[in-house]
Amino acid sequence: MPTYILLFGAPGAGKGTQSAILKAEYGIPHVASGDLFRMHLGQNTALGQLARAYIDNGELVPDDVTVQMIRDRLHEPDAANGAVLDGFPRTIPQAEELDGLLAEFGGKVDVVLSLKVREATLLERVANRALTSGRADDQPEVLAKRIKVFLSQTLQLEDYYRERGLLAEIEGERSVTDVTGQIHAALKTFAGL
Ligand code: AMP
Repeated sequence: MPTYILLFGAPGAGKGTQSAILKAEYGIPHVASGDLFRMHLGQNTALGQLARAYIDNGELVPDDVTVQMIRDRLHEPDAANGAVLDGFPRTIPQAEELDGLLAEFGGKVDVVLSLKVREATLLERVANRALTSGRADDQPEVLAKRIKVFLSQTLQLEDYYRERGLLAEIEGERSVTDVTGQIHAALKTFAGL
């Protein structure tokens, strides 16, 4: 049965760093909705053209577009054993869709890792990242909006998964190694990995 790990965290919480480590350790791909959107933008696909205005404004892309993009990605052969999902789901309707989507693969959400980082730290980290990332949406005004969108829409998802006994809260302000250690402990407890 494939393993599906969800990684939650605001922009700058360390999702990219920890996903790369999980990918190396468990051999399951890092599927980041933001990266997929950026790929579509770069290739100027129909989906990219549709999503561009939302992304440039720091708003969420509509659920139907987003879910279909994730479905297509999970059907690729390298995701046969599962995936680390980063940035998806971000809304309750997306989470509900995800249950049905993973059932198509005979899987389910095994654990939700939520990286907790204070807003001041997030702003500082992404300000540094903006110097080299070249991401228009890392600029201060868009970033502040992305964090606001994250806090208002995404935190309810934690309750959704907490109620289902799947939420593991990770102290994200510690060192990368320490955070990885907390994640290993959670994977063992929740997913038997
Ligand atoms: P990220 O790199 O995860 O911060 O995502 C960058 C942008 O892509 C977000 O600000 C949204 O515009 C869009 N996006 C990424 N994931 C989702 C999602 N699950 N639902 C809707 N929009 C998304």
